Order: sequence, then structure tokens, then C-alpha cells
Amino acid sequence: MKVLVTGGAGFIGSHTVDALLAEGHSVAVVDNLSSGRKALVPDSVAFYEMDIRDEALKDVFAAFKPTHVIHSAAQMDVRISVLQPRFDADVNVVGSLNVLQNCVDHDVKKFVFSSTGGAIYGEPEELPADEQCPARPLCQYGTAKYAFEQYIGLYQRLYQLPFTILRYGNVYGPRQNPHGEAGVCAILTQLMLAGKQPVLYGFGEPVRDYVYVGDVARANVMALSSADGEIMNICSGVGTTVRAIFDFIREETGFEGEPRLEPIRQGEVMRIFTSCEKAARVLNWTPQTELKDGLAATVAYIKDEK
Ligand code: NAD
Repeated sequence: MKVLVTGGAGFIGSHTVDALLAEGHSVAVVDNLSSGRKALVPDSVAFYEMDIRDEALKDVFAAFKPTHVIHSAAQMDVRISVLQPRFDADVNVVGSLNVLQNCVDHDVKKFVFSSTGGAIYGEPEELPADEQCPARPLCQYGTAKYAFEQYIGLYQRLYQLPFTILRYGNVYGPRQNPHGEAGVCAILTQLMLAGKQPVLYGFGEPVRDYVYVGDVARANVMALSSADGEIMNICSGVGTTVRAIFDFIREETGFEGEPRLEPIRQGEVMRIFTSCEKAARVLNWTPQTELKDGLAATVAYIKDEK
């Protein structure tokens, strides 16, 4: 396959690129390097430094001629989406639409989308939330992701573009950016290794579904050749408090302090974890990495980078 990965210089995208190369696929990356790093893109990959909103994206499609597209480029920070909703929608809806339209114009055979299980369902009454749970996002980011899912459905109906939508849980692992506001595992690790006191919002009580990045990359690759027309959660199926994550990482880093506890921030939900039963059934995918092993790998990576 000839696979174009948008956001391939980022955290999840770069692991996806590695998984694709390991299977012998030909890969190209489009990334504007707003949070990604060129160093994460292997030399054998055709790299286009470009914004997904750029009209010139059509030239990349014309030059590389992808047969398959994994669309992972996004503004992915919930806080930024609350503070700059038009920017969030510009990238995550309008930019994504530019990618989708090019897929139709250039006869792409399959479109895989990085959506969110953490921000689409809001605060569901029943947990774990499965894919039948109504989408009631509580932030602009989740709303934009859900809106774009509707465009994907439309493009399947209008143009028969095959798709799979993967709604990831809270993805963590090596290469996650520890400097932003998103990516709690990387942020906590970085602070604790530096001997600095982390802040736990929601007084450490928010519950999330943590899924390891290698498992997510594997799901992306599997979706290229199966589960057409399906929407599914890619997650652990288990809820873990931020406080428990803090405790895991404290043990792994040897940090001796306590966190500062603060109220939850606008746009963030208190409790979400999702079911991965559909992914097991339809994609034959299950998460393989235990939380403690994944967190140990995350800490080892950040230690190594310092
Ligand atoms: P990331 O920020 O590491 O990766 C996003 C990549 O997209 C970066 O390399 C960035 O430079 C690039 N990018 C951003 N805006 C762009 C633009 N306008 N044009 C071109 N490139 C652009 O984040 P990530 O965690 O790897 O997220 C990848 C995808 O997975 C995103 O779509 C995100 O919404 C989705 N997702 C992530 C999580 C998570 O927990 N990390 C959970 C659910 C969904």
C-alpha cells in the first residue's frame, strides 16, 4: 500500500509510520510541525512540511498518489479548543475536509480517521461507554471531531469513500509531548523527573481510559484493510484516576513529593472510559500493553531524552 499519514511527525502518527514501515508499506507524511518533530520521521519516508488547510495539499496527493490515508493531524488540545474555538474548527473541521476532499479527488481506497472516545461522549450515564452511547461532547474539540465524523459518513454516501473511524482513549507512551497541556502521563513524568510538584486537576479524581500508543498504531494499520464503514473505540475498557497515574509514575521516577490539587478545568469531563468490545469483534484488535509496562516505557523514554 501507499499510505499518506497526516500528522506523521507527531506522537501517535510517528508510531503509526513505524508500524507501517515494519509491514513494508510505502509511506509519506504531511505535517506542519506545529507540535510534531521532523526527527521522528524516518529518512525512508517522503516528508511534506505543510498545513492540512493548504490548497497545495492536492499537489502532495498528485505527487505521492496514496492508495490509503490515515488522518491524524489535528489541533488536539481540549484547553486550546475552549479558548480558541474558531482555530480548533479551522484545523479539525475545515483542514480535515481538505484532506477528505483530496481523497475523493485522487481515488484513495481507504480513509482512517483519528477520532476521540475521551471527548465525544461527554459524561455518559453508563460506563464503559460503547459506540451506541450518544455523542454529547462538552468541549469544542470533541464537537469538531464529531462534526468531521459526519462529513466522513457523508463522503461515503456521496462518493463511496471507504472509511474506518477510530475513537481513541487517552493515548500515552514514548514521544508524547510533555511541554503542552495535553498528555497527562508525559507531563507528570517530566515534572516528577525534574523534582517539580505536579498539579492534579479535579483533585486527582477524573477517570480516563489509558491506552498505549503502540496498541493504537497497530489499530491504525489494521483498519487500513478491514472494518470498512465502522466506528469503534480503541481503548483499554478500564477507568483509571489521574491520582492512580500519579502514584504509578511517582514509584517509577522515585519522586518524593505530593501533588497540588486543583478544581477541574472547563471543557474537561470527570469520568469517561469506553468499551473496546466492538474493536475486538470487528477489527480483531485488543489492547496488549499493561498500564504499568506502558508507563515504565514512558518514564524510561523521557529519562533517556533528558
Ligand atoms: P500530536 O500533537 O503529537 O500530533 C498531531 C500532529 O499533527 C503533530 O505532528 C502536528 O505537528 C500535526 N499538525 C497539527 N496541526 C496541523 C495542521 N494544521 N497541518 C498539518 N499538521 C498538523 O498529537 P497526537 O496525540 O499524536 O494526536 C494524533 C491524533 O490523535 C489527533 O487527531 C488527535 O486528535 C487524536 N487523538 C489523540 C488522543 C491522545 O490521547 N493523544 C486521543 C484521542 C484522539
